[in-house]
Amino acid sequence: MEFREWFATEEGCWSYLAKLRWPDGFVCPRCQATEGWTMRRRLYWCQRCDYQVSVTAGTLFHDTHKPLRLWFEAMWYITSQKFGVSALGLQRVLGLGSYHTAWKWLHKLRRAMVRPGRDRLSGVVEVDEIFIGGERPGKRGRGAAGKTLVVLAVQEVPGRIGRIRMCQVADAAGESLEPAVWSMVEPGSVVRTDGWRGYNGLTELGYDHKVVPKTADLGDNLLPLVNRVAALLKRWLLGTHQGAVEPSHLAYYLDEYTFRFNRRTSQSRGLLFYRLISQAIDIGPVLETDLKGTGEGRAKVKKSQE
Ligand SMILES: [Zn+2]
Repeated sequence: MEFREWFATEEGCWSYLAKLRWPDGFVCPRCQATEGWTMRRRLYWCQRCDYQVSVTAGTLFHDTHKPLRLWFEAMWYITSQKFGVSALGLQRVLGLGSYHTAWKWLHKLRRAMVRPGRDRLSGVVEVDEIFIGGERPGKRGRGAAGKTLVVLAVQEVPGRIGRIRMCQVADAAGESLEPAVWSMVEPGSVVRTDGWRGYNGLTELGYDHKVVPKTADLGDNLLPLVNRVAALLKRWLLGTHQGAVEPSHLAYYLDEYTFRFNRRTSQSRGLLFYRLISQAIDIGPVLETDLKGTGEGRAKVKKSQE
């Protein structure tokens, strides 16, 4: 209700976006004038140099032909659903004529779920690789048909799980695992892994590497935090997305899951919405050609609906 009141009109959405882009007031991108501008529809018009700039130019909403209000509603819906939404769900809620549009919007917004220059995890972090997709269990150290290998890093804070990071890798060799850990975990942190040789180089990279020894009472649950997050992630992929995620798109779904997981305790849905829209302004336009493999993903989703 509150959301609909705030963003009841196109004008309301434009001025909200404008306030986020130019919190201290409009600055002409061409002549840097801060005075003498008018706003007409979604255009700012500099009276000094006659330059016109759209509120959406250079943002994720660049060149959109749909009302901004619909985008706002999409972002609100996506952030207010605890487990996220499928393209079909979004299409229904927004009343979009085309499934492809809903699919495209979701993919574009997933790009905005990664904060540019986000920090790495620190403290005590559990790291392990998991397989996503495919029919049969894969063999460690090499790829398996239809499967994608993902390295999971889970921060331990006393008594519970902290934040997470994920990274897709080609295989479980040290040459793949080390850069993955480096991109997710701050050097100097305690990194807990099992005894897999792919992690042997971590000490040299500056980590306090602790290998959890295999003992009878631990069984296969050497890394309980990673195992817990892996189970939740797999359930999410199967539930919300019906297991229909193509390997070529998986990285973006992992970003979405990470975005949601790391804000799972945040009480305010409004804050999540604010975060998403701010990052949508920061990341800039996402071109249609950047959303690779569209046909494939759609075909698979459609098949599972029959
Ligand atoms: Zn100007």
